Amino acid sequence: MSTSENPSPAGRVDGVLFDIDDTLVDLETAMDKTLRHVSAEHAPGLAEHEWAEYTRLYSKDPLGHYDRFLSGELSFVEQRLERIQHAQEWVHGTLLDYESMMAWNKAYERTLPVHFAPFDDVARALDALEDAGIGYGAVSNNVEEYQRIKLDKAGLRRVEVLVGTDAVGCPKPDPRIFHEGARQLGTAPERTMYVGDNLVVDAEGAEAAGLAGVWLKRPEAYGTPGPKDREYDGVTVGSLDELLPLLGLG
Ligand SMILES: [Mg+2]
Repeated sequence: MSTSENPSPAGRVDGVLFDIDDTLVDLETAMDKTLRHVSAEHAPGLAEHEWAEYTRLYSKDPLGHYDRFLSGELSFVEQRLERIQHAQEWVHGTLLDYESMMAWNKAYERTLPVHFAPFDDVARALDALEDAGIGYGAVSNNVEEYQRIKLDKAGLRRVEVLVGTDAVGCPKPDPRIFHEGARQLGTAPERTMYVGDNLVVDAEGAEAAGLAGVWLKRPEAYGTPGPKDREYDGVTVGSLDELLPLLGLG
């Protein structure tokens, strides 16, 4: 769907909240670079297409281990280890033993932040919002402290309003976390836009919570797990540049 086909919320948006992972910060690329570095010794001899599958399985998390973290069943580190073991077993045919797993995790934690970077369109969008006097912030399905470090490492210290799952004790799409974002931004939920790459959790979740949900469907990314190809008649953009006309700014 092109921007011109989108129902425009211009004139009714006082603030914009963003998802972080694969919306502001290119986590998929950071994970890919990190895995190729950190997993090289644990999964030697992989061909390029096998690396692609290895990183896809880890990033896309088809078994839903991240959801098990969000529900409290796994710790953050445990869900990460479940994901790498799945990729390791599927592509390389082996599981990491305990010692290797701990060494892998330590190297992953050290390496991933080095690769945190924003998408190219983020600075342009935030500049335009600032110029227009429209406040912005982030609401994310991870804990605040971890996401604060991620934003700062990605050069996005300017995103000051940040709400994580620990702020309200529940993840998206629970309406309470969207409402807390609007509250911290100082805007009414119905006059707040929410932009994210996950159709269900972000766009539909925000709409259900009374915000103006926008699905960011970056063409080159597979991004956060969630249905990508089904029909959606809500507001959809292919990049953050397409937000600006929706807000009457471009
Ligand atoms: Mg995301």
